[in-house]
Amino acid sequence: MSAPRFAAAGLLLASFVAVSPVQSRAENSLQAVFRDISNAASSWGKRFVYLAASGAMAPAPADFGIHFDPKIPPELRALVNSDLSFVRSIRGSGASNLHRQVFGAVNGQDYISFFAARVKKLNVGDDCRTYVTSYVSGKDRAAMQICGGYLQEAQIGRIDTIFHEARHAAPEAANGYWRHTACPTPFYAKYLEGMPACDASPVGSYGIARIMLKNIEKYCVNCTDKSRLDAALYSDDDIQRIIDKPSRRLLADDLPE
Ligand SMILES: [Zn+2]
Repeated sequence: MSAPRFAAAGLLLASFVAVSPVQSRAENSLQAVFRDISNAASSWGKRFVYLAASGAMAPAPADFGIHFDPKIPPELRALVNSDLSFVRSIRGSGASNLHRQVFGAVNGQDYISFFAARVKKLNVGDDCRTYVTSYVSGKDRAAMQICGGYLQEAQIGRIDTIFHEARHAAPEAANGYWRHTACPTPFYAKYLEGMPACDASPVGSYGIARIMLKNIEKYCVNCTDKSRLDAALYSDDDIQRIIDKPSRRLLADDLPE
């Protein structure tokens, strides 16, 4: 398994063990994020029940060319489609150099092209531990495994996760699927010390998620303030995982604060 991403709820729990500067700085914002997640989960559940009961459930969209395993619950499938629809709607006023190299413009279709070139199938994960949202494993790198933790994550967090995982997919064979390196000890998040949840490259899974979200924070012209704030929070976590100093500097200089 290529180091599954964990829902932010897991990160929050872990933060009680080791509060990092990032988490400390972002505490108030994160509290707001989790409040919103709870509200969203609650309202989503109600909406789904209402739509199903009224027979008004909209037909599934085209699924962005991804084959959804029939075992994926309809609410999960709808949420993935909703997240990709949001991504496709993004419009930007500019883009950093690294963003242009990896994705192209800050533009929804460029993001969807990146994703669809890598992820062909979505399956129900068979190794879903607590807080795991999704993962790509060596068993089938054309497929992304999706877990129940996806429902507990904020939208920008879900997007962070699936684009991270897309970087581990089949077309990245020549890059060793951007496998992770062990996080050092000590590390800002104690629960990650020695775990394969860090990168040396600036353009591995954590790096490209950082590049995408930082550009959305800075350049998205049709995102809400909340989306851009969440993009800032998640991109701050992603850059912390780049443990090679020149690589981290490259990312920081690509789009300075
Ligand atoms: Zn990974």
